[in-house]
Order: sequence, then structure tokens, then C-alpha cells
Amino acid sequence: MSRPARALLNAEALRHNLELVRRRAPGARIMAVVKANGYGHGIDWVARTLAGVDAFAVASVEEAIQLRESGIAPPIVLLEGFFDASDAALLRRHGLVPVVHHDLQLAILEGSPDAVPEQLWIKIDTGMHRVGFAPQDVPGALVRAQRLPAIQKIGAMTHFANADDVNDALTSEQIARFRASLDGAALETSLANSAGVLGWPESHGDWVRPGIMLYGASPLMGRSADELGLRPVMTLQTALIAVQRRRQGDAIGYGGDYRCPEDMPVGVAAIGYGDGYPRHASQGTPVLVNGQRAPLIGRVSMDMITLDLRAQPNARVGDPVTLWGEGLPVNEVAQFAGTISYELLCHVAGRVPRVAN
Ligand SMILES: *Cc1c(COP(=O)(O)O)cnc(C)c1O
Repeated sequence: MSRPARALLNAEALRHNLELVRRRAPGARIMAVVKANGYGHGIDWVARTLAGVDAFAVASVEEAIQLRESGIAPPIVLLEGFFDASDAALLRRHGLVPVVHHDLQLAILEGSPDAVPEQLWIKIDTGMHRVGFAPQDVPGALVRAQRLPAIQKIGAMTHFANADDVNDALTSEQIARFRASLDGAALETSLANSAGVLGWPESHGDWVRPGIMLYGASPLMGRSADELGLRPVMTLQTALIAVQRRRQGDAIGYGGDYRCPEDMPVGVAAIGYGDGYPRHASQGTPVLVNGQRAPLIGRVSMDMITLDLRAQPNARVGDPVTLWGEGLPVNEVAQFAGTISYELLCHVAGRVPRVAN
């Protein structure tokens, strides 16, 4: 038998979540964000399953070329643009649409007219303070972009810092600064990530850029994926490989952080930080054994975790264990691990087979 750790992928759930984007942002075109190997799900599988979307968005030319080599035809947007002139030289050949966020990128295009793509996005920093042209520098950047040879379409993009909190005033300020910085220029616009799609309808613009919601995790603080109508795409699964009876006072695993409060059954499941299960998952992180919650105890090892099976005295070797996904929201597990759903999904290791239904 092979090691039971696997990531089950649900194509129907992925398409369902895309439909939800369409329903929530009915006037907008959709740029499906598939960077970081499709948030860990496998970029090829995600792109094939989302065929029919208006565009894909990735973080690097390498990811874009991988999509082209798998026969993915829609426009591909490079969210960080290109990194140097050799990168830029690939734009036209592969039909890539860069986001231009820095003077140096404009200079590269001005210096290599053959590389200039047909389309680009100008990134505007409206308050995220990471990348993008400051509002006062946007008119100058637009003039330079419009003068590039062969350029046919220029869009304006910004990114939200706090859109996950629907009570945070910054998002409305960012929307207002974005509109003001365009000063009436008739450009296509793109502002909304997943949180924008679900929490800020006034941000939809011409193109929305959903990532995490496509994969079925909630992008909004205090709102579960389920109540938002999202379905988990990945279910990370494994099985029990041992069930042991431990004595009161026994210390479990590295460092002996957990001591059994009484005689009790302890389960061992074949998953660990070598698979991308978070080492920082705290005692009590929920795990499903046979669909029922069983708390994590002890430290997460590279290949194994230990579980308190007191509520499941009949659990046996071979029983299914779910780390997140169907029946156990990844958002909830992320909270127990002091991180966010994005990181858990992206970190599922290459050694975990992806099994698509
Ligand atoms: C990653 C990313 C997105 C998608 O964000 P989600 O929160 O996953 O929806 C959208 N826009 C940009 C610029 C990004 O980098």
C-alpha cells in the first residue's frame, strides 16, 4: 500500500465557486488567479477546470509559460509584471499581459520596442504601499505607456490592503483614490480580489481578480466559507497508521509537550510538516477521524501527527483522516496554526499526490 496522504481535488466545487464569482460580480470579467501552482492545487488542473474564464493571473513568466505549454489559450496576466529585459522579451511571444508597477519596467519596454506587448495594466498604489505608481505619478506613467509602440490596450489596477475586514474604512478610501487618480481616463479597471468580490460590490470595476474564493476558502474575517456559499476544492486526507493505548502521564512525541491526562487511545496519522501540514498547529487543532473531530495532541512531526482518540474508542488503523477540506474548513485550521488559509493551501508539498475527481 502506498502512503495514504493525498490532496483530493473537486472540480465541481471549483466550478461552483467560479459561478459564485459570476453571480456576485455579474458585470465584471474574471481574471482567475492561479499563482503559486494554483494556490497549491496544481496550476494545470485548475486552469483546465476553469476553462471559459476571461483570463488567468500568475506571478511569473515561468508560470505563464507552463500554462501556454499545457495548451491554455486565454490571456495571462503577470501580476508583478516582468523582472528584467530577458523576461520582457517573452511577453509578446507568449501573449502575456504584464502589470507595470515601476518606472524601471517602463524604461525596459521603451528600450526594447520588440518586447512591447499589446496590452498592459498600470498598477496604482492607493494605500497598500507595496508596489504601484503613486496617484500623482499615474498621469506620467500613462503617457509613457501610451507612447509605447504596438500597445493597444492599457488598464488600471490597484490592490486592497484590508478588504477582508468589511468594517475597515481604508477600502473605500482606496476605491476613491483609484478613481481620482484616473482623472476620467477611459481605461478598463480592476480592483477587487476575492474579498472585494464578496465584501465590496462598489469595487468590482471591469475585471475582478478572485483567488482564494475560487478554492473555497473564506476571504472575509468572521464569515465562514459555508455561509458565503463557497465549497472547498481541496480535501487533504490521510489515514491512521497506528492506534496506541497510552497510560496516564505518558508524554507524546518530540519534546513531550503533551502528557496524557488519563489512560487513553492515541492515534497516529501519516501527515506532517513534510507534507505541508503546519508545524505550528497548536494542541487541540481539529482533525477529522471517520468524519468526527479528534483534537491534535503533541508536536507535528515531519511525517506524522498524533491525535486524541478518546471520543472515538473504535477508531482503527486504516481509518480515514481529514486535515482540512470537506467537513473541516481550512480557515478554521489556519486559525489554530496562527496563519491563513492561503499559506496552508500553497504549502501542500509536492510529495502529496493530487487526486482529481
Ligand atoms: C493574489 C492576488 C489576487 C488574489 O487575491 P485573493 O485574496 O486570493 O482573492 C488578486 N490580485 C493580486 C494583485 C494578487 O496578487
